[in-house]
Amino acid sequence: MGLVVQKFGGTSVADPQKILAAARKAIARHDEGKQVVVVVSAMGHQTDILVDLAKAITDRPSAREMDMLLSTGEQVSVALFAMAIHSLGRKAVSLTGAQIGIRTDSKHTRARIRSISTDHVRKLLSDSAIVIAAGFQGIDQDGNITTLGRGGSDTTAVALAAVLDAEVCEIYTDVDGVYTTDPRLLPEARRLGSISYDEMLELASLGAGVMHSRSIEFAKKFGVKVLVRSSFKDVPGTVILSAEESTPRPASGVALARDEARITLENVPDQPGSSHALFSRLAASGIAVDMIVQNVGQGGQADISFTVPSDDLDEALEVSRTVAAALGASGVSHDAAIAKVSVVGVGMEREEGVAGRMFSALSAAGINVRMITTSEIKISALVDKSDAQAAVHAVHRAFALEAESVDGAADVAGTTLAKSSPLEVVQRLEGMEDLAIEDCHLDSSQALVTFIDLPDTPGVAAAVFEEVGRAGLVVDMIVQSHPRDGRAEISFTVPAGDRERAAAVARRIAASRGARVAEVPHVAKLSITGVGIRSHAGVADRLFRPLADEGINIDLVSTSEVRLNVIVAAEHGEKSLRVLRKAFGL
Ligand code: ADP
Ligand code: ASP
Ligand code: MG
Repeated sequence: MGLVVQKFGGTSVADPQKILAAARKAIARHDEGKQVVVVVSAMGHQTDILVDLAKAITDRPSAREMDMLLSTGEQVSVALFAMAIHSLGRKAVSLTGAQIGIRTDSKHTRARIRSISTDHVRKLLSDSAIVIAAGFQGIDQDGNITTLGRGGSDTTAVALAAVLDAEVCEIYTDVDGVYTTDPRLLPEARRLGSISYDEMLELASLGAGVMHSRSIEFAKKFGVKVLVRSSFKDVPGTVILSAEESTPRPASGVALARDEARITLENVPDQPGSSHALFSRLAASGIAVDMIVQNVGQGGQADISFTVPSDDLDEALEVSRTVAAALGASGVSHDAAIAKVSVVGVGMEREEGVAGRMFSALSAAGINVRMITTSEIKISALVDKSDAQAAVHAVHRAFALEAESVDGAADVAGTTLAKSSPLEVVQRLEGMEDLAIEDCHLDSSQALVTFIDLPDTPGVAAAVFEEVGRAGLVVDMIVQSHPRDGRAEISFTVPAGDRERAAAVARRIAASRGARVAEVPHVAKLSITGVGIRSHAGVADRLFRPLADEGINIDLVSTSEVRLNVIVAAEHGEKSLRVLRKAFGL
């Protein structure tokens, strides 16, 4: 008998009528002959109300007690949901995370799932009950209640779908699918019929709030098909599935992270180990960093910049100041009011001119780009918070996302979905949510070109990459450092065979702007692939330490949820590959 997991978000169970309507959806599936597990969030804004209550008592509530408090929201809604099903004449049993046996680590308010026992749920299901599971919560090894982080009910749902081998995990919410960008932000956004795990993972982790990004980690690792659809409208929705089954597009969506902060350690002695010192301390504090940028460095000194969510700024600054002093850096600067705009698409690596298109659009809208990093499937740019909305608009238009025809989802909304296979690495994991590293490989075919002392004026990245695109050059990694004293640095890699052409173009641009160009004919690019690379705080640390121990300096870094790339000197390529494979247990 097929099994279906359905998840209802806060708005979908905001009042008794909505709970009854949701209960009817669960019953309809049950009547089709499916076993049904329902995961429910707290009603409406209940979790926010509980957070405010805690804040009214103290500025610094204990994380353990926060979990005790927040988990009550879901306990209310599961009980009411079960009662709703009873009132409609069917069997249902509600269960808390602990009653199901959702075991987590002990990191209160951001716990990760280690294991889920299925015996109890299976027994209830085979007794033809509909099981109503509380989202967002679990229990640690000492019996403490934990929560998975805001928005975590999606993760409960997909994790349950994974262990119960569900044919589909249906996410019922207040939008009718995954859009090219948040439709509340940009009404012209379009619904996508399908999207790949990698793209959804990237979009969710870069700010698209429609799915908890960790739920997509589960989906990809365990091959769970996820269907996002409306609680209120009967329309097909969006299916999230493996790359092989989805359509590659140069751009699938634009994500905005509004509350970001940038930190820069200035004039750090440029030697192996500096990055490690910094990122290991940040990891130990549980802070996940993004957009790590180190400029090429002059006079033996370099700046290291990175971004963190605004909520982590104070703690990250404290750590940064301590590390800066220990390393002999000249100071730490930061910017608390910035936003990160990202465009995501699995097809972008095969297309030239993608970066140029994005930066030209931002430049035409008069928006200054403060920092840039890219990976194979996304480009992220840091902009002033006041420019955030305009930036999303400009980038969305630049990729004609408002015009994209909605690809058919109707056929996949049915009940005949084939499960994707779990990734091989899953068998080697101790905890279900552990970081999953699949592979590490070396690419020695690229050259590195760097602009030094580029005047930091709006449109400089656009000018560079428009011209690079016009020359037919396909660039791989792009990094723009945080500008200092009115000067920025932009680095990019190209196939080594294109180096001379790229350098000629670069010199022409540099000459007209009073900048200089440095080139390295051969560099080594190491790529680590897997799932959860950015969201697991310690990955950068595990990367930097072994390289620092071997005295290998890192020239460029780029991170995404599914890949981490570093550029080192060509002569260190093979050795770096060996130490990294060892460090990641490959
Ligand atoms: P729930 O309570 O059901 O979990 P959420 O509020 O967490 O619902 O997520 C749904 C919201 O996500 C939508 O109302 C929408 O504003 C927002 N959102 C952000 N990015 C996107 C996107 N790319 N596609 C659809 N919705 C998005
Ligand atoms: N109720 C929790 C929250 O508001 C979990 C969730 O809704 O996913 O964050
Ligand atoms: Mg949500």
